Amino acid sequence: MSLIVVGSMAFDAIETPFGKSDKIVGGAATYISWSASNFTRPIKQISVVGGDFPLEEMKMLEVRGVNMEGVQVKPNEKSFFWSGKYHLDMNTRDTLETQLNVLGNFDPVLPESYLDCEYLMLGNLLPAVQMSVINQLKTKPRLTVLDTMNFWMETALPDLLKVLEQVDVLLINDSEARQLSGEYSLVKAAKIILKMGPKYLIIKKGEHGALLFHKENVFFAPALPLEDVFDPTGAGDTFAGGFIGHIVRTKDISFENMKTAIIVGSAMASFCVEKFGTERLKEIGHADIERRIQQFKELVNFDIELV
Ligand code: AMP
Repeated sequence: MSLIVVGSMAFDAIETPFGKSDKIVGGAATYISWSASNFTRPIKQISVVGGDFPLEEMKMLEVRGVNMEGVQVKPNEKSFFWSGKYHLDMNTRDTLETQLNVLGNFDPVLPESYLDCEYLMLGNLLPAVQMSVINQLKTKPRLTVLDTMNFWMETALPDLLKVLEQVDVLLINDSEARQLSGEYSLVKAAKIILKMGPKYLIIKKGEHGALLFHKENVFFAPALPLEDVFDPTGAGDTFAGGFIGHIVRTKDISFENMKTAIIVGSAMASFCVEKFGTERLKEIGHADIERRIQQFKELVNFDIELV
């Protein structure tokens, strides 16, 4: 059992209608590994950071079973920086600034111990880097999951389309699904995207849950109704970490098990939004996660007698 997680490790500055953060640690691979390490270890991380990235953040992940051998540290450069501002609904946001810094010329080198990975989670970063990781593996993973975002659709679409041909599961949000397909209806969008390569498509809809498409099948999972959403940053990546973590733990890549994985992903995302950055993910343990998954069961469980 081994999982490679690829993605940005970053500094973020976040504004919500209720508060503002200074530069805090974030990044797709950071959130994915905090989340997935509740279900599977070791995790083999691929990323790049500058000399400004706090070493203790990497140590905390190491303690969680996240192998940092594949994370390059460039002492004389700056880490990736992203800033975003959320609208009042906390579901939509504007990117204020993206500074690629070290990510701009990142050339990932997979350590020998990574080469036989069975599961590959390609988190958000340059599609060319995601492709380079796929190409370095000796054998095709049992399951490859890809997360990406509008930024790469706008700046690197040809590379992204090539990566899409190589993956099994694509995870994007509703506006990205519309952008990628050119269709407003998510059902029509899914049909188009499933022809681009992935066999499974997960469309995240923030507080409105997530949809899983596979051939003619559709599954819907709600998001937990929360009284307060403090900071949605990283919720998508935390969802991805819960999803892949559950798949790796159970070694079951069937559509039926992906349904459960989506519930696990949604439960993990519901923790992430409760505090700024990775703060809440650092606090929770197995008992909290089990209780939250139980809440999801109760949320959607009902009996009906057909008339
Ligand atoms: P999410 O809220 O799950 O979509 O992910 C937010 C995280 O993605 C933040 O911590 C950012 O550092 C990271 N991020 C934002 N834009 C990019 C990008 N273009 N490439 C890689 N990571 C990004």
